[in-house]
Amino acid sequence: MIKAVLTIDDIASSNTPALVDYLVEKEIPVLMFAVGEHIEKYPENVAYALQHGMVVGNHSYSHPDFAEISYEEGIREIEKCEELLNDIYKEAGVERKYRPFRFPYGSKGGENKERYEQYFRDKGFSKLDDRKIAYPWWKETGLAKDIDTLWTFDFAEYQIRPDSGFTMDDVMKRVHDDKPESGGVLLEDGTYHIILMHDHEETLAMVPDYYKIMLEPVMENGVTFVRPEFL
Ligand SMILES: [Zn+2]
Repeated sequence: MIKAVLTIDDIASSNTPALVDYLVEKEIPVLMFAVGEHIEKYPENVAYALQHGMVVGNHSYSHPDFAEISYEEGIREIEKCEELLNDIYKEAGVERKYRPFRFPYGSKGGENKERYEQYFRDKGFSKLDDRKIAYPWWKETGLAKDIDTLWTFDFAEYQIRPDSGFTMDDVMKRVHDDKPESGGVLLEDGTYHIILMHDHEETLAMVPDYYKIMLEPVMENGVTFVRPEFL
């Protein structure tokens, strides 16, 4: 048995309702991370995800690299997205129980990392329950203590772009890679994962139904998607 929490970043897009319909049909619970600017562009699509049981967390307002901006700018990015999330939960008529955060690009704020972690603790942000992740590096690198949500496996499908040379075959190689350069082996029995994928129109334009093409073999190979729980 392999268990995984599926996380989907950069919500929302014009395709979010179709993506949500597919996840509901497959009974895949998801933790989504929304970009504030995308909430402003597609508020009804974020509301649709909420009304269909998805948890939507904060992925900053404009998706900057937090190692490249000041701490004060970073806090403004987080708080602007928080306000938009509070409003959209209200508009959708869904109670906001959890407030998880994920840094864009997995960048934890460079020299300000510890200040951000303290901020998350002080402000009551939600930590995804990661206690079943057994990789030694998850503890050794401090990830087990961080409030923000990183991942143990990245499909890297966002790299499928015109002229990038990166294709769905490369994504599938990552799925089956038993010696990855970073992260954990996805298809190893007994493991517990946080999996990263994205809601990108650009990827959909390159590979229609890309998320179905990625998720179906993963499920066929024994991965069960579990509901995100928080500490
Ligand atoms: Zn992102």
